[in-house]
Amino acid sequence: MIPAAFDYVRATSLDDALARLAADDGAKVIAGGQSILPLMKLRLARPETLVDIGRLTELQGVRRLPDGRVAVGALTTYAAMIADPILGHYGLLRDALPNIGDTQVRNRGTIGGAIAHADPASDMPAILLALDAEVVARSATAERTIPITSFFEGAFDSALRPGEIITEIRLPGGRDDVGSAYSAIEQPASGYSIAGVAAVIGARSGDRWGLCAVGVTGVGEHPYRATAVEQAIRGGASVADAATHATDGITVASDIHADREYRTHVAAVQVRRALEAAAARLG
Ligand SMILES: Cc1cc2nc3c(=O)[nH]c(=O)nc-3n(C[C@H](O)[C@H](O)[C@H](O)COP(=O)(O)OP(=O)(O)OC[C@H]3O[C@@H](n4cnc5c(N)ncnc54)[C@H](O)[C@@H]3O)c2cc1C
Repeated sequence: MIPAAFDYVRATSLDDALARLAADDGAKVIAGGQSILPLMKLRLARPETLVDIGRLTELQGVRRLPDGRVAVGALTTYAAMIADPILGHYGLLRDALPNIGDTQVRNRGTIGGAIAHADPASDMPAILLALDAEVVARSATAERTIPITSFFEGAFDSALRPGEIITEIRLPGGRDDVGSAYSAIEQPASGYSIAGVAAVIGARSGDRWGLCAVGVTGVGEHPYRATAVEQAIRGGASVADAATHATDGITVASDIHADREYRTHVAAVQVRRALEAAAARLG
């Protein structure tokens, strides 16, 4: 398929890109192009102008912030994240990143593009939800920080406003008393998750877990925090019992790959597996 005609400009800086977006309602940014180009080829997206931010080095890379948190530039690719020693400390990233897409997708696809696209079955959103990440977005006039828990608003819909560019994603610093894991069952042809679960769990204090955060993708209209699971764990339930709450309050998706009943079942299975794997990493 051939996209509709469009103009192309390569941004020279973040400010240049933001100014171009502010001046043109029909402009959209392209980063790695792994999601927007297929959409354009199917003519499901028809931007009048593509503003290419892919080479802006100011939005690439991983750095530790003075307060101990970790900032991942929006243009950091999956491949760069896999190779990064700071991110190597996060068990759930070690589990998930090598299985996202194929080599080309991992070399080109970016973390910012993945969450801006807001695919309801994308892996990164579940991980960032479990980590309680923050998204930093900038427009031509302002910068704001969006908690990841309020970022995903629907299928392919996020809290990002027209004219905003994600500049970085902030993660809590890695902690020795916290274990994390990612477990997913994937649609074999596309690799997208039918149910993908990211779990973060804190060391036990007495008979209770210190903390519990569970992000789920592929199951609902958009990735979500499985708060009923988290509450059950905090209340002292076993992992197996807590996992049965994986889809509480969620309208579970049903499609040709997995009907509602099956997806509901595998969501609970993946929650259990992710929590068990996260707990096992606590040692
Ligand atoms: C064959 C294939 C297999 C895949 N398999 C998986 C998989 O297994 N798991 C998975 O999770 N994903 C998978 N993906 C999706 C992939 O993760 C995303 O396509 C990729 O991460 C998107 O990043 P990008 O930089 O290519 O975004 P682009 O395609 O460049 O952009 C995507 C959207 O985000 C916007 N955007 C990009 N960057 C920014 C920014 N910094 N600020 C604001 N808006 C921005 C663009 O305007 C566009 O609307 C697959 C994709 C392909 C093609």
